[in-house]
Amino acid sequence: MQSPAADAPTARTDNPLLDFSGLPRFADFSPELIGPAVDVLLAEARATLSAVTDPATPTTWDAFVEPLEDATERLGRAWGMVGHLNGVADTPALREAYNVNLPKVTQFWTELAQHEALFAKYKAFAASPQYAGLPAARRRIVDHALRDFRLGGAELVSPARERFAELQERQASLAQKFSENVLDATDAFSLLVTDEADLAGLHADTLEAAREAAHKDGNAGWKFTLHFPSYLPVMQYAVHRPLRERMYRAYSTRASLGALAPEGEAAKALDNAPIIDELLAMRHEEAGLLGYANFAQVSLVPKMAESPAQVTTFLRDLAARARPFAERDMAELRRFAAEELALPDPQAWDLAFASEKLKEARYAFSDQTVKQYFQLPRVLDGLFRLIERLYSVRILPDTAPAWHPDVRFHRVERDGQLIGQFYTDLYARASKRPGAWMDDARSRRRRAASLQTPVAYLVCNFQPPVGGRPALLTHDDVTTLFHEFGHGLHHLLTRVDDLAVSGISGVEWDAVELPSQFMENFCWEWEIVRSMSAHVETGEPLPRELFDRMLAAKNFQSGMATLRQIEFALFDMRLHADYRPGGEQTVQDVLDEVRREVAVSIPPAWNRFQNSFSHIFAGGYSAGYYSYKWAEVLSADAYAAFEEAMAKPDAPARIAETGRRFLDEILAVGGSRPAIDSFRAFRGRDPEMDALLRHNGMVEASAPEPSHA
Ligand SMILES: [Zn+2]
Repeated sequence: MQSPAADAPTARTDNPLLDFSGLPRFADFSPELIGPAVDVLLAEARATLSAVTDPATPTTWDAFVEPLEDATERLGRAWGMVGHLNGVADTPALREAYNVNLPKVTQFWTELAQHEALFAKYKAFAASPQYAGLPAARRRIVDHALRDFRLGGAELVSPARERFAELQERQASLAQKFSENVLDATDAFSLLVTDEADLAGLHADTLEAAREAAHKDGNAGWKFTLHFPSYLPVMQYAVHRPLRERMYRAYSTRASLGALAPEGEAAKALDNAPIIDELLAMRHEEAGLLGYANFAQVSLVPKMAESPAQVTTFLRDLAARARPFAERDMAELRRFAAEELALPDPQAWDLAFASEKLKEARYAFSDQTVKQYFQLPRVLDGLFRLIERLYSVRILPDTAPAWHPDVRFHRVERDGQLIGQFYTDLYARASKRPGAWMDDARSRRRRAASLQTPVAYLVCNFQPPVGGRPALLTHDDVTTLFHEFGHGLHHLLTRVDDLAVSGISGVEWDAVELPSQFMENFCWEWEIVRSMSAHVETGEPLPRELFDRMLAAKNFQSGMATLRQIEFALFDMRLHADYRPGGEQTVQDVLDEVRREVAVSIPPAWNRFQNSFSHIFAGGYSAGYYSYKWAEVLSADAYAAFEEAMAKPDAPARIAETGRRFLDEILAVGGSRPAIDSFRAFRGRDPEMDALLRHNGMVEASAPEPSHA
């Protein structure tokens, strides 16, 4: 597709951030282009805003909703590219430009959210006969707009109005600072080990990566960092207890006053504790301005869950069912640590190590053994073939400018027709935010004669290839990859033509993990695992016997893992529902209380997990962390439909039919209808918790004897 040249002043395409004719122009990007582009786009968006809210402009979809969507989409896409680069290729210049422009952009969204004339126009539109005649997806867009206006403070009057805007802006900067502090604190610490005796237990590829890292700094020895691919193997395999303790201490005190690095004044500058307090105070104040009792209520308005009490009950129900299994897990771990590892009183930095050893003893394999079978290119190939089979598409290599040489680009086609495209950026490196995520570069949208196809970013932080071999993935990594592709498919396979509800847009937060967690299940299907595994030296697929042991180990400590997720979720919900900043309790008190209620192992008092809990302080999961478990109920139950199909004599036909239905009723419809309706359309009934409990090995038949003190 080409933009009509006659409409566009030549200056536009000089700035790649102002070019919306095709894919993002990463090759032409530089940070100094951000300011000018943002200024142009903000000016245009404001001009459009005043044009559509002019009383003379007809209150119709075409004259009013669509032009505004055009303008805000351009701003969103340009700023999305900047935000993406900020996440994957952070540089001082980019960070500075990002921070200079962020308040301007945030201010515009706040203005838009509070625009009285626009709100009035939407209200008039919703009351007009045209509204009733709109397709359901468009009515939903208008309903969402009205809801968001109310949540965005549009009904506020001065001075609450101005205060609300102030709170929004300040929160955006605080969240950005929180996230920067975590990254800087992660980068600030490294440990150079020079005595090889301290490295006992670590595997060859971990050591090689550590040696290369030290070498890069001009040092002999082995360098370990708090980035996950370096940190995790130390915690799991290093026999030398002081090494584990030091790494654990560094990791779990990041961005706090007790941090091991940096120290003194520099630690104060990266301390996230004051940011947490200020954020929570502001969220509570914001809720009050909107007429809610607490921020948790505000957060749940656009979600599938109905109230904080419903969520808390859900979490506590699940905790009650997981608790006996978690207690059994912990007792077993303690017994093993005492008897086999001479650790009679295992500490927080011993748990992953002891767990890995117990897992090895019981199932006789380690993540590192399994890793030799999962070569990234082969895994991707297996994943692509699965997607092709389930959803009748083709995934083909494609080319596009990118931000790093490791990035790959693909296109998705059905019957030779382009459906969407995606970038993959899969390796950990400095200046890249940790974790894994999917983000949209562009969403599906139909306008008059032209169809804009969706484009996605798929980002992971796997250990890069070392020693000339392909990158090797743990089974967890494979699962992460499938998970992110689940989000990607939701975005790419949509058939909705309206931007605001196509793909993952407009999907309730607590339902958005359904397609991603659903995909994870396939990492446990033998046929799929066999076809995508090949030993890095022999080329042999993963042995069936090893897979069976992995399957047996799948639910290893699932009780403890479930309680840990519930601990995070309950902490988050309580902070946003009951906690009052400046009151008698501190954030740490709330966390301690939740741990006493839920956890089977309590971390050391100096642990400051909350200071790097980016999900709820910088990631949009505030009063929403429960959604992982909530969506797991949905995804496990949805996958059970595939298990039922696989058990039938005519399995291939049944699976194909189930795949088609999943595509039609869940993936393709995106946010165009409530998630509960999509679920019912696919499953023919309401979601049930049983499949999740069964998948996690927590069923009555395997329940341990009631424990006695
Ligand atoms: Zn996800």
